[in-house]
Amino acid sequence: MQNVGAALPERGDVCPKCGVHIPQFAELSDSDAVRIRHLITNQRPTMAMQELRSATGCPIAWAKIWVQHRGSTASAFGKMIVAWDWGVIDG
Ligand SMILES: [Zn+2]
Repeated sequence: MQNVGAALPERGDVCPKCGVHIPQFAELSDSDAVRIRHLITNQRPTMAMQELRSATGCPIAWAKIWVQHRGSTASAFGKMIVAWDWGVIDG
């Protein structure tokens, strides 16, 4: 995870819609993933990103991609992603 900066992930499933790789975190435990997905379901993307970063130490850009896609292409396209106010996070 060193020196990745704000670079986009180069591994993981490619989202057919955005064309970005959805990062997969070996260090993310199942229980953490469940908790973070729960936050996403409850419309708390900012908190979900914070939880993901504290669990994995990943860059903000990666956390945003992961949260936007619920951690995988399959789950992202199983249901419509709610239009969150991502502007707050981009700042
Ligand atoms: Zn996408």
